Amino acid sequence: IKRIPILGINFDCLTNAEFFQQLQHDLNKQVRRFIVTANPEIVLYARQHPQYAQIIKQADYVTADGTGIVIGSKLLKHPLPERVTGFDTMNQLLHLANEQHKKVYFLGAKPEVLKITLAVIQKNYPHLIIAGAHDGYFKTAQPIRKSIQQANPDIVFVALGFPKQETFIYQSYQNSHAIWMGVGGSFDVLAG
Ligand code: UDP
Repeated sequence: IKRIPILGINFDCLTNAEFFQQLQHDLNKQVRRFIVTANPEIVLYARQHPQYAQIIKQADYVTADGTGIVIGSKLLKHPLPERVTGFDTMNQLLHLANEQHKKVYFLGAKPEVLKITLAVIQKNYPHLIIAGAHDGYFKTAQPIRKSIQQANPDIVFVALGFPKQETFIYQSYQNSHAIWMGVGGSFDVLAG
């Protein structure tokens, strides 16, 4: 995959279709992956926080989740084909998980929001297996990490907002074969 550096972040030069195809392959092969869908806030935050930038560097995929980033890439004469958002990517993965009866873990959001999110998921994706879930307001990460490990999911969605979600993923994903992705406020959007 070609990478395009913009403001210190290396973005993958992929269309949505190409990215989804890649994810389908990863899911089938059970390759461990760390996805960052970087919006402008993430890019600016990473510029001011080298430790966070370092974590983003470890990601397997970094997509441009913002029109401004795509426009910027064109001005810099290394054009990214299009915007690849976190919400679309999550929905695509949910769709694949449903088709292939994959196990998904949901971490994040307020308890009452998460409950509704899970109900919506169960209704819209009846063949997807909810491997486990926990709200995003925990004190210590270790028990959550352990519960994810025991659930042995194929996909882990982490909705803690940045930079928490990427930090959590970076500290948790090493010994798994799952696709991990920070999804910001997407659980709230799904819950309506
Ligand atoms: N959140 C959480 N734990 C926290 C802080 C935030 O679970 O300690 C959740 C919050 O409830 C929301 C999500 O993280 O569901 C992301 O919120 P926000 O819209 O601020 O994130 P962004 O999309 O801007 O990254």
